[in-house]
Amino acid sequence: MKKVGVLSLQGDFAAHGAALERAGAEPVYVRERAQFGAIDGLVIPGGESTTMLKLLHYEHLFEDVAEFGSRKPVFGTCAGAILMARSVANPAQESFALMDIAIERNAYGRQLDSRVIELDTAPEFTARVGTGKLEAVFIRAPIIRSVAADVKVLAEYGGTPVLVEQGRHLAATFHPELTRDLRVHQLFLERL
Ligand code: GLN
Repeated sequence: MKKVGVLSLQGDFAAHGAALERAGAEPVYVRERAQFGAIDGLVIPGGESTTMLKLLHYEHLFEDVAEFGSRKPVFGTCAGAILMARSVANPAQESFALMDIAIERNAYGRQLDSRVIELDTAPEFTARVGTGKLEAVFIRAPIIRSVAADVKVLAEYGGTPVLVEQGRHLAATFHPELTRDLRVHQLFLERL
């Protein structure tokens, strides 16, 4: 069984662990350096990206996540997607720059302050994990403002990307761990 790390300093790591279990993987709740050697991939959950950054430095894990991401797959959701981005705005803050995306925090404003949307997905998504609308929970979500040419957009909402893939990495601005639909987690597990 694949062992998947879930960064467990802050945020909804428990929901990701449960979703990974339902998808047939073994979650490892990562809180210390020694655990990176035992995992095949890493999930950075939703939560509050500024707080998560502070805790990453406080626990001396920032470099470990960056190093892990330079050779293994990482999946960031919401605050996790913010940490994956090459550049972060509103306000600017440090990130792992694992994906060539520019992201703006809290950018949907109150109109999308916690909402469930039925998303259409790209043919590449459905070909790999199955057809049907994708239920997406947005909670104070960031907006992906631009992506590099080799970033694949697997789903969009209102004309902006919400699920993107680049090489081994994946990022979602919504929370796939909060619905019963396991396809986004399956997409991540496929590459481990
Ligand atoms: N608004 C949060 C941030 O900027 C992200 C919200 C979330 O992860 N649900 O970090």
